[in-house]
Amino acid sequence: MSNYYISKSAFIRGMQCEKSLYLHRRHPELRDEISEAQEAIFTRGTNVGILAQQLFPGGIDVKPDEHSQIQESIEKTKRLIDAGEKVIYEAAFRHRNALAFIDILVKERRGWHIYEVKSSTRVDNVHVLDAAFQLNLLINAGLEVKDVSIVHLNTQYVRKGDLNIHELFTITSVFHQAGDVLHQVIEKLRRFDKVLDRDSIPDIPIGPHCFDPYQCDFMGHCWKHVPENSVFEVGNLRGDKKFELYNRGIIHIKDIPDEYPLSVNQRIQVVCERNGNTIIDKAKVNEFLNSLTYPLYFFDLETVNPAVPLFDNSRPYQQIPFQFSIHYKKSKRSAAGHYEFLAEAGPDPRPELIRQFLRHTANPGDILVYNQAFEVGRLRELARDFPEYEKELNNRIERVKDLIIPFRTKAYYTPGMRGSYSIKAVLPEIVPELSYDEMEIGDGGAAMHAYERLITETDPEKIQHTRNALLEYCKLDTLGMVRILEVLEGVS
Ligand code: SF4
Repeated sequence: MSNYYISKSAFIRGMQCEKSLYLHRRHPELRDEISEAQEAIFTRGTNVGILAQQLFPGGIDVKPDEHSQIQESIEKTKRLIDAGEKVIYEAAFRHRNALAFIDILVKERRGWHIYEVKSSTRVDNVHVLDAAFQLNLLINAGLEVKDVSIVHLNTQYVRKGDLNIHELFTITSVFHQAGDVLHQVIEKLRRFDKVLDRDSIPDIPIGPHCFDPYQCDFMGHCWKHVPENSVFEVGNLRGDKKFELYNRGIIHIKDIPDEYPLSVNQRIQVVCERNGNTIIDKAKVNEFLNSLTYPLYFFDLETVNPAVPLFDNSRPYQQIPFQFSIHYKKSKRSAAGHYEFLAEAGPDPRPELIRQFLRHTANPGDILVYNQAFEVGRLRELARDFPEYEKELNNRIERVKDLIIPFRTKAYYTPGMRGSYSIKAVLPEIVPELSYDEMEIGDGGAAMHAYERLITETDPEKIQHTRNALLEYCKLDTLGMVRILEVLEGVS
């Protein structure tokens, strides 16, 4: 048996890729840096796990504070079980090289019930494997397990007043599915033991498994030979097609053969990458410009999507708008005015945001957004959740136009956009003097985390600093839209 233990997450990692398991245990220094977004996901998972404990109140938590206390937790779990304890949180078990912490272990009338808590909104195959891993350890510990369930968030739950924990969570038994893959878990644990004992890193090439079920955190190591402008950057090309090209030795976009089946837009990307040219289809640009009516409101929303609904009339993971920026142009030649709104963190930001948005867009004029699926989706949700504003919000939705169109249709494309038509790819190409690079908050995800931090922040200086950074970021989005439109108008 190797000296390396396999936790549940390490086991899932091994099921995804044995090289990843090996690197995780033997070469953790090669792991990519954890991003702010990933850290937020971990924190979210922990918080949801703690909340779910309230479904089975009065339990004893044996979670070790640090690694060196794991053995202590295992022994404590055993003592509690022997003493007839009915509910244990983070119950610890070890069998051979496998180590498990059961989120919630409950002694029910017929035997033990394992509850695994997930911050996801449904059960998927990886959760079943996860449950089977836990089941295997408890069986080996001699416990009579009568059921294994996944506790996950219920997207149909709409908060009204105090959080209703029993409606927030859905409990789904995976006992039979876990039983069906138990033999696979046992075999794999034996195999992983041998993998971890190897003297060299397993020779596993990159492949679709690098993203399935999770994006691997050793990509910085394994993918370092893949250059910029590789076939993996072809816009909207399916993953299996990208790997088909890669496995044929076609690494660079410019080397994709002319006969290889691609969409028109993908072919434009390949051709532009080869000859370095910019494509501007004036007829299509004009068609887009002719669809707009001044005055124009350039509008951008920022949102936060808490796993556990913070406000009345909201559901798990619902996108809650907390900020907007509007640049306003009366005519093509007039200077742009600017309005902005950023809610105080804490109370529901939506009612005041709606009032400010309606006030600032009261006069006629198209409302120009970048990727209308997002903004229109949020406005529709606001109309649903605040029916007193439904009529006015629907009026604004009817006025929405989408600045993404000329870029999504490749009416305007530069090789530097690298197959993308997001504003983050388009703006630096079209208006190089405007950039997100030096900004403290440089994308929607960072804005979301900054606002989440504001909810618990108490230092007035830090609050002001973060608010300024948020305002600056959102303003750049709409100012960028103003400048992009000016460039398009210059073309026409
Ligand atoms: S990047 Fe891919 S090949 Fe490398 S360890 Fe991760 S999953 Fe395996």
